[in-house]
Amino acid sequence: MQKGTINVQTENIFPIIKKFLYSDHEIFLRELISNAVDATQKLKTLASIDKFKGELGDLTIHVELDKKKKLLKVRDRGIGMTAEEIDKFINQIAFSSAEEFIKKYKGKSEADKNALIGHFGLGFYSSFMVSDKVEIITKTYKKGGPTKAVKWECDGSPEYTLTEIDKQDRGTEIILHIADDSTEFLEEYRILELLKKYSKFLPVPIQFGTEKVSEKTGLKDKDGNDEYKEVEKPRIINNTKPAWTQKPSDLTDEDYKNFYRELYPLNFEEPLFHIHLNVDYPFNLTGILYFPKIKKNIEVQKDKIQLYSNQVFVTDSVEGIVPDFLTLLHGVLDSPDIPLNISRSFLQSDANVKKISNHIMKKVSDKLEDIFKNNREEFEKKWDDIKTFIQYGMISEPKFYERAEKFVLFKNVEGKYFTFKEYEKHIEKAQKDKDKKLVYLYTTNPDEQHAFIEAAKGRGYDVLDMSGILDNHFINTLEQNFKNSSFARVDADTIEKIIKKEEDQPSKLSEKEQEKLKPLFEKYAAKDHYSIIFESLSEKDQPVIITQPEFMRRMKDMSKLGGGMDFMGTMPESYNLVVNSNHPLISEILNEKEENKQNDLVKQVTDLAKLSQNLLKGQDLTDFIKRSLELIK
Ligand code: ADP
Repeated sequence: MQKGTINVQTENIFPIIKKFLYSDHEIFLRELISNAVDATQKLKTLASIDKFKGELGDLTIHVELDKKKKLLKVRDRGIGMTAEEIDKFINQIAFSSAEEFIKKYKGKSEADKNALIGHFGLGFYSSFMVSDKVEIITKTYKKGGPTKAVKWECDGSPEYTLTEIDKQDRGTEIILHIADDSTEFLEEYRILELLKKYSKFLPVPIQFGTEKVSEKTGLKDKDGNDEYKEVEKPRIINNTKPAWTQKPSDLTDEDYKNFYRELYPLNFEEPLFHIHLNVDYPFNLTGILYFPKIKKNIEVQKDKIQLYSNQVFVTDSVEGIVPDFLTLLHGVLDSPDIPLNISRSFLQSDANVKKISNHIMKKVSDKLEDIFKNNREEFEKKWDDIKTFIQYGMISEPKFYERAEKFVLFKNVEGKYFTFKEYEKHIEKAQKDKDKKLVYLYTTNPDEQHAFIEAAKGRGYDVLDMSGILDNHFINTLEQNFKNSSFARVDADTIEKIIKKEEDQPSKLSEKEQEKLKPLFEKYAAKDHYSIIFESLSEKDQPVIITQPEFMRRMKDMSKLGGGMDFMGTMPESYNLVVNSNHPLISEILNEKEENKQNDLVKQVTDLAKLSQNLLKGQDLTDFIKRSLELIK
């Protein structure tokens, strides 16, 4: 037996490991299993180049619990280690990186510390976060020389022992004596949960316990149906060949859908389409991204893109690693160039990560363009579900805007879809104002703004449906990019004001007459702070129309979204009360001698305008109904 001290210069580092890595103890299991997988993969590689000539046999990695003895074991049949290798890899290299880690990260924030464990190859030593004592029992695959199996043992002080022992089989077994403050890791459900989280797609089968499955007995019952029985079978945690590691040509649409369900067992919606990524230059990246239907609330995203490194789960918070809008997608990214467990700020500034993220953006837009070009009908059908995603990308990433210009669609209130170019053609003739500026009319709520939409259509104008959650922001982005154009909501002003062609048509009321009428409307509308404006519209238009200045409304909309203009939220709504001086009813009101009747008519036409904007409420609505009944009599 050999006794030794891992490093004479340091005091016992294990209590420090425990203390420093406190909040993320669970990663120890991922580290041990990754080591077992590596050792197994190395052996397979050696076999494939004929350096290992023995039987590979069953390479399944076993995870076992012995609750009574408080043991957790991870056993592999990989390359194993000789006594010399243990000394080198465990006593020296692994230990010194653990020590370096501690030195560097004393005093750093909790999150940064956690993020750096893997980076320093603290891997194996992380098992001391949860153990009083750790044993390694290992036998190398090598033949000849000092190849006897060895047992390394360490109880959390810098002293270890190394003994020769008898072991039949090649490979390594790590035995953790779980500490009293970590007994959660003796619970089957907890270990199962961790295995499912980190090891679901590892390339070597991992067995943990058994499970009941029903199996055909080979017999038939009296009705001729197959008979089943329950049998206890080894429980294999992982799918060793997940879809993203396979060739796209070997996969059907159904395979992709099945893999989606495997990734998100609790999501019952089908993805709209997928992209299979496969890059080997200038970096390695594989993965499958899915387009989900995007819900109204984009903040609450529970199914996220999962990031893997050689099939080991790294994280599912990819914010900052890929552009924000891509986080609306689902699926898997796998890149060995993304190091396990490295800090977020490092990832964000990493040149490889940046390249990867640009590449994904390009692939995503290529795919969308491809569907648009080859199957516009399908693209239009899915438009409403992907529009938020595309708009988000165009708003936040100028590079994506450039690409998306080719396939992004406008939808008008009739439900027709147009590309930007097509739409420009569509409205070019009718919707230019007298400065030759193209005016895009839109609605944010086709129901509430119905009367205005009808008025616009009546004049031969087209109205865009901009009722999506990001449309307000999107319009701002478009205004910055479209030349010589403007956007106006259908109720921003009367259509005459929005698309001014010639001079106003002559007004039937003289200035004087307007002056006479104005106070009557002012008196009634005073409490609503409406500004009274006279306009000479057509006789066919409504006698009174309520509009909302575009600029003010947009500012208010922005402040509702929390754009740092909270003061706008406290300002009262501002509306214009537009009186149509050419409408016969308005002349009638002017000429009405009986004061009560005149006031009633003013109220009635104002209320009707409010009603069409959904602004008539409470006492005013009750009075309106009463008054209407009176008038019918
Ligand atoms: P890393 O895995 O980052 O190299 P670790 O501290 O986890 O660091 O492991 C140190 C070394 O110990 C590994 O590089 C490997 O050579 C050896 N090792 C660990 N676990 C095993 C195992 N199950 N089988 C064979 N070798 C192992």
